[in-house]
Amino acid sequence: MMGPFCNEPMTDFSLADNRRLLETALDDIKKTYGQLYPLLIGGREIVPENMKHSINPARHGETLGVVAQADRKRAAESVDIAAAAFEHWKRVDPAARARTLYKAAALLRRRKHEFSAWLVAEAGKTWVEADGDTAEAIDFLEYYGREAERLCVPQPLVRIPGEDNEWTYVPLGVGIVIPPWNFPLAIMAGMTASAVVAGNTVVLKPASATPVVAARFVRLMHEAGLPEDVIQFVPGSGGEIGDVLIDHPLTRFVSFTGSMEVGLRIVERAARLQPGQRWIKRVIAELGGKDAIVVDRDADLAAASLGIVQSAFGYAGQKCSACSRAIIHADVYEEVTERVTALTKRLTIGDPALHGTDVGPVIDRAAYNKIRQYVTAGKQQGRLLTGGGMDDGAGYFVEPTIIADVDSQASLAQDEIFGPVLACIRADDFGHALAIANDTPYGLTGAVYSNRRERLELARDLFHVGNLYFNRKCTGALVGVHPFGGFNLSGTDSKAGGPDYLIQFMQGKVVSERM
Ligand code: NAP
Ligand code: MG
Repeated sequence: MMGPFCNEPMTDFSLADNRRLLETALDDIKKTYGQLYPLLIGGREIVPENMKHSINPARHGETLGVVAQADRKRAAESVDIAAAAFEHWKRVDPAARARTLYKAAALLRRRKHEFSAWLVAEAGKTWVEADGDTAEAIDFLEYYGREAERLCVPQPLVRIPGEDNEWTYVPLGVGIVIPPWNFPLAIMAGMTASAVVAGNTVVLKPASATPVVAARFVRLMHEAGLPEDVIQFVPGSGGEIGDVLIDHPLTRFVSFTGSMEVGLRIVERAARLQPGQRWIKRVIAELGGKDAIVVDRDADLAAASLGIVQSAFGYAGQKCSACSRAIIHADVYEEVTERVTALTKRLTIGDPALHGTDVGPVIDRAAYNKIRQYVTAGKQQGRLLTGGGMDDGAGYFVEPTIIADVDSQASLAQDEIFGPVLACIRADDFGHALAIANDTPYGLTGAVYSNRRERLELARDLFHVGNLYFNRKCTGALVGVHPFGGFNLSGTDSKAGGPDYLIQFMQGKVVSERM
């Protein structure tokens, strides 16, 4: 029996011993740079002709791994094989499935710094961000294991005389798991482990920017005792093989986290009945955000400014929960923008492998180019307070950039940029600030800084986002503490890391016997 869930603690890098652990891990992983990562379908390693290098975004000349790329035929085959594996995996005792997750959590805890080092190298995360990503992955394994034990036993029902009634949850079938690159361990592991512990088999198509972390996690699951045909590891271009995976008649559900554009495409395709398909495909889609922090006139302005900077520029703004709009009451607008600018100028930009770096690179050239367009547009749409510099000589570096006096309808205030770019918007009063905050197609996270109870209660009622924070930053949701998911075009509000999540990968079956 496992004890109650508790969150994995963060590593304290102010201690020299802890710093040494991660430094050693960063050195150790270099010995395996350039390794080959094959496809893994039905437990069989496959090395196709087409391969792709995974690179370090802080040093784009550095190859971390050479990763097999599935074509359409392999992708289709992986769904067939996952469907065959479902026949045995669905019969495994849910408690045994949960134990596989607990074992994987224990292994990951032991090898925490090794995985964090890969996150630094492949995703460009700073030490603290990488450590948080690994801790969250451990949390998901521990949490969903317990959730499976809670849900995979007969559930309470009203009893009537003369009948024996039983309600249980059974798995769905083959799930296509398509994670993003920005939490390449936590989100990928959470999406995969939840599907698997519920009794489903999976085709995991990792994000193309971060396949090495995913490949290493799949190996870890095997070390933990997961049968090798339960997860098919199928790296490849989403644009090329995504449709085949989604459209396959044996696909039962799709678990997707990524952009709105791709998410909506998946929802649409999954809705179409294919020849031979016998179910309505379920789609769990967690998408983008245009998250705002609202600062009231009567707020702790120092705390608000720090919260804005942490939320906007942590991991170079590449979080779905990142603050990309600071909506500030006119009476304190000048003071807050000045404070935010001053704090931002103090951030250290550079190689995330170095302890003390606050902001690393953005993920790849496409992101770099997209962000550049918004920085250029931003200078026209408002007043540049700091940043704007970019350098792709060695890695994809973008200075934390703040644009003030942005109109709430400007592209800088409406589009998800997914980089270190903050738009500051002036609000006439608190009601106006909330109206601006709600006026995008998204609804993922948000925060309000205020010392007035009635203002907070108004925001509690009106600020329409899945995760709303008061007097704290809008990033950093903890498993079990802050179930996570967004409203409107931010997704299906699946609330990852919460008690509503696992049930989405199961269906309830009621058996009633006349006695
Ligand atoms: P993305 O471009 O949508 O990619 C996400 C995944 O979808 C990748 O594995 C990608 O593969 C795949 N993909 C691309 N085209 C596809 C297609 N036509 N069919 C099927 N799959 C396809 O998003 P991203 O750039 O990786 O991640 C950033 C986005 O994720 C942001 O919008 C962010 O807000 C969102 N996000 C949301 C949450 C949340 O919980 N709501 C959490 C994290 C991130 P390739 O890599 O091969 O293109
Ligand atoms: Mg993309």
